[in-house]
Amino acid sequence: MKLAWRFLTQPDSCWVQLLTAKYLKLESYWTEKKYHNVSPIWRSLCAVRSSMKEAVCWAVGTGHEIKIWSDPWVPYLPDFRVEGLPGAQRKIYRVADLICQHSRMWKVDLVHECFTPHEARAILSIRLPMDAVADRLLWLKTPTGQFSSKSAYTMLTQNAPSSSSSPKINPAFHWKALWQLQGISPRVQIFLWRVITNSIPLKSRLAQFVSSIDNCCPLCHVSPETTDHLFLKCEVVQLVWFGSPIGLYVDMNNNDFTLEYIFKGWLSQPSSFEAAKMGCAIIWSIWKSRNRVVFDSWKFDPKEVITNALHVYNEHLVAACISPTLPQTNTQVGLVEASAHWSRPPEGYIKINVDGATGKNSIVVGLVARNEFGVVLACRSIFDGNWSGKDALLATEARAFLKGFDLAIAKFPNTPTVIEGDSKLMVDYISDDHLIFPWRIRSIVQDCRSLLKSSNLLSVCHVSRHANKAAHKLARTAVSSRLSFEWCYTIPDCISDVVLEDASNSFIVD
Ligand SMILES: [Zn+2]
Repeated sequence: MKLAWRFLTQPDSCWVQLLTAKYLKLESYWTEKKYHNVSPIWRSLCAVRSSMKEAVCWAVGTGHEIKIWSDPWVPYLPDFRVEGLPGAQRKIYRVADLICQHSRMWKVDLVHECFTPHEARAILSIRLPMDAVADRLLWLKTPTGQFSSKSAYTMLTQNAPSSSSSPKINPAFHWKALWQLQGISPRVQIFLWRVITNSIPLKSRLAQFVSSIDNCCPLCHVSPETTDHLFLKCEVVQLVWFGSPIGLYVDMNNNDFTLEYIFKGWLSQPSSFEAAKMGCAIIWSIWKSRNRVVFDSWKFDPKEVITNALHVYNEHLVAACISPTLPQTNTQVGLVEASAHWSRPPEGYIKINVDGATGKNSIVVGLVARNEFGVVLACRSIFDGNWSGKDALLATEARAFLKGFDLAIAKFPNTPTVIEGDSKLMVDYISDDHLIFPWRIRSIVQDCRSLLKSSNLLSVCHVSRHANKAAHKLARTAVSSRLSFEWCYTIPDCISDVVLEDASNSFIVD
């Protein structure tokens, strides 16, 4: 599969051109065709074709690279492919034919003319990036869209139950970075090591040796208690991650989104060491609570786990006499205590709080812009009721930031503006160019990044959910009203109390 991936993504390399000239001519790799006397390498490429079909899809940029009728490019359709209406194949050939490159919009009429209503809807829900960026082939089995042999292997063996279940120690894990973390208790550090190396006495592990032990997760009683389930994917534990200052959204559809993967990412660069420490405190605190559930018949409370994790995290900070570092660039990223209140922007600045929420087949965004006195200058609640994609939670947080940028540019083009939200993940994705992000939000993150770079008046910032209450409430109202609204210099009733509270708290804190 690795070979097939390289075949698809490196069309300029010599061996690919040779094979293409010999076997494909003008056909596509995806078209099934019978050959005689083929080379072993071509035979192996054809053998994995059907597996490749479910794993790759184009991310549309300009659309020049993508063949409409043979390539996979519509994420919301089976096989990611379109069939089109009779006769349409003669009219259009490349995806670029469907895009107005000047306005960067879909040619809606042409799309309706060439495709069934269902296909047209799926195509029109693909978000085009503002800039005419190159098309990119994505590997859908990793969160980042980049190929990994491990994910290919997992995909191929998914249906066949594995007989080997011995703990694996990954030498590629950033152990050195873990041991060098400052301001973290050694017991918590070692605990992460034990979790990643699979040496915690989890039920699924014990059940391998003692047949009388039930391997069920003690928190949800649904899935086997494995490392990734207990510390990441269990439904109650997901609430812990999402409600924590990290605001981590757990991608359930992706087998590669594991605890090891997340910590590896955090430990790979100093800018996310604080997240790694918070993450350690969270899994430590999950384990403590899990044991109380098992041994003391305790009830698992996500809020309590978060509070305990914050204690563990802060305890180390005090002990080590250091505080989380806030980079003094135009991007302020740092962990903020969960109890933090909304704070007023610096003199002459505007702060736009943004938040996303999800409803039935819809995603919504709330935006509240305030000045240095806490006075509301503009509010927007945006309802998008046609949402049919996956990962709505992640998409809506991403979109919240983009809409925040839109509001800043439209209303306050000459004023320095801070866009503030409670998704730490999204702030990191937008502000750190080196960070790889989930492919599903690719075009939105790219747009945010280019807007941030294009103006030195804009910056992004992360706050606790508590400090982001106004935007959150406004988003929630759009879920129930199913309408988009804009307010200028007036405060919608639903957030007037929060705005007042924010303003008064922000003066007390000073
Ligand atoms: Zn569970």
